[in-house]
Amino acid sequence: MIIPIRCFSCGKVIADLYERYVQLISTPQGTDGDLMPDGEAMDKLGLNRYCCRRMVLTHVDLIEKLLRYNPAEREIVKIGQRG
Ligand SMILES: [Zn+2]
Repeated sequence: MIIPIRCFSCGKVIADLYERYVQLISTPQGTDGDLMPDGEAMDKLGLNRYCCRRMVLTHVDLIEKLLRYNPAEREIVKIGQRG
């Protein structure tokens, strides 16, 4: 879904860091064009505690996929399977 505003364990605000984190790990760095490792990106953003790191590292951004969900499509598939 969307990234939680605060870390569940310590309460540090992490939602504002997620966009920068995704940008850091997906943009090629330097002359060789390598992607930044996840750990290095989190260090750069000041995510030092492992509780905060797991929040950012394990987050799956499903909101865009969920917004495209249309319950009427399920009915169309069901009707197609019957007849
Ligand atoms: Zn934390």
